[in-house]
Amino acid sequence: MSVPRRNRYDDVVVGAGTAGLTSALLLARFGRSVLLLDKAPAPGGALRRFRRGGAFFDTGFHFSGSLLPGELFDHLLGVLGIRDDLTVVPYDAACGHRFLFTDPRAEIDVPFGLDRGCAHWQALFPKEKDAIAWYFEALRSVAKRTMGMDVGRPLAPVGMLDEDFVSLRSVLDDRFRDPVLKGTISAFAMCYGSPPSCVSFAAHARVAYGFHQSGGTLAGGGDALADSLAKAAERAGVEICCGCGLASFAQGKDKQAGEAILSNGAAIGFDRCLLTIDPAMILDLLGPLHPSPAFRERVGAFEPSIGFLAAYGVLDGAAPGPDFARSVYSEFPGVDFDALMDPATAQERPLVVIEVPGDPAAGTPPSISALEMSFAQDVAPWAQTKVRQRPADYLEYKRTRLEAIGKRLGRLVPYADRVRWVDTASMLTFRDYLNSPCGSAYGIKQKVGQFGLFGRLPIRNLYAAGQSALLPGVLGAMMSGLFVVRQMVGKEVFDETTAGAR
Ligand SMILES: Cc1cc2nc3c(=O)[nH]c(=O)nc-3n(C[C@H](O)[C@H](O)[C@H](O)COP(=O)(O)OP(=O)(O)OC[C@H]3O[C@@H](n4cnc5c(N)ncnc54)[C@H](O)[C@@H]3O)c2cc1C
Repeated sequence: MSVPRRNRYDDVVVGAGTAGLTSALLLARFGRSVLLLDKAPAPGGALRRFRRGGAFFDTGFHFSGSLLPGELFDHLLGVLGIRDDLTVVPYDAACGHRFLFTDPRAEIDVPFGLDRGCAHWQALFPKEKDAIAWYFEALRSVAKRTMGMDVGRPLAPVGMLDEDFVSLRSVLDDRFRDPVLKGTISAFAMCYGSPPSCVSFAAHARVAYGFHQSGGTLAGGGDALADSLAKAAERAGVEICCGCGLASFAQGKDKQAGEAILSNGAAIGFDRCLLTIDPAMILDLLGPLHPSPAFRERVGAFEPSIGFLAAYGVLDGAAPGPDFARSVYSEFPGVDFDALMDPATAQERPLVVIEVPGDPAAGTPPSISALEMSFAQDVAPWAQTKVRQRPADYLEYKRTRLEAIGKRLGRLVPYADRVRWVDTASMLTFRDYLNSPCGSAYGIKQKVGQFGLFGRLPIRNLYAAGQSALLPGVLGAMMSGLFVVRQMVGKEVFDETTAGAR
């Protein structure tokens, strides 16, 4: 456990995941003294990798969209000044994402590039040519009108869009007829974690736009991004203190929080404190400061997004073929994502397979992560247990899921019989390692008409950002960090300073 060197900072940032690292780095660049705190032993949050069977596995950064030069992820790396530290490993643009629907059976590719994707789907679903053209134009239009997504343009606030107030479900049912096409459009729900009847068309479009542009990962995975963010933050003067969480706030005056009380008992004074942790945990911390009943009700209505049961395997034997790690494969046992994303459904769950090439020079074998959709209800019987102290029936649950995933893999990839499983992680594993309330993958569900905690909170010296604030995923967490700092340091100063970023 590290201990803060001072007892007062301009800004305390709580949570050193993507959002916390991004915000702390930018605040320090604006001349603020910054303490970045995390309960975990090292910074990175869900970006951190782990090693099993000689291979490295990612926790929460398997792939992203918008990674190519000029696209949003690449642009944000430029604004943060870390683009040159990182190497993008793009997936094959012609393959894109590969979806296999088993009932009704259909294999649908989503090649990268919005024009290419649109033409490909129009060829597959010729009767819905016009609706498909409308859909791709709508993705572009939402991205263009969302602050920060139209890369290179000044940040002009546009507020909520009409598309924020309609559900994806209503758009699918109004515009499209073919159930497989509706399923194909809905499948990006795996990347934001909310079903079509609940997510707004705008939230869907913001995520889907990025995944239609491009896809890929970074050499070194999430660790590479976490390390370069942490190093840049430290160079900018951020003090990173790990193994030490925020436990509570002392009472302050004038509707402000007092000192931050850490898990080691230290009391740290601050001008402003930014919380990049789950909204339910924010509500717990704010409780003794008496936020209004309306605020409590608002946060109490948030629901967790989907999570994953993850199986991690290494490939034994000969090197896999040239198609390995060129794309992400997903298998869906149906096309109705409202049914697939209902915890009570009796169907098999969607499965996403991510391949990672080995490095013969470093002796690292090729590996796969297979992520099966999961819900808090699946692991509710063991919710009170802790990592490494779980009972036999929990281990049996994981063994059963692994066996089912192994069988399904045979339908998806040619090397299934060569996979040696080296570990599994349930939502409880993610909950306990990531210090989140239930181990959901993307924080809270993105619901029509419901907006996450972002920016200034009702306690005036407290702010919120993170994956649940604006957009889920690593890209969304980075954006939330950027925009909250813009609010904290002042829009004009921020825009002037970052305008020249490549
Ligand atoms: C299995 C899985 C797979 C995923 N795959 C992808 C993917 O391929 N691509 C993608 O873009 N996204 C993916 N995601 C989502 C992505 O990882 C997250 O959206 C993103 O990393 C969240 O960043 P964050 O900074 O908001 O939160 P986190 O990374 O969760 O960071 C929050 C930090 O706060 C700390 N903390 C909590 N409470 C306290 C406290 N009281 N005091 C101090 N510290 C505290 C935690 O220890 C944690 O480090 C995945 C997530 C999961 C779980």
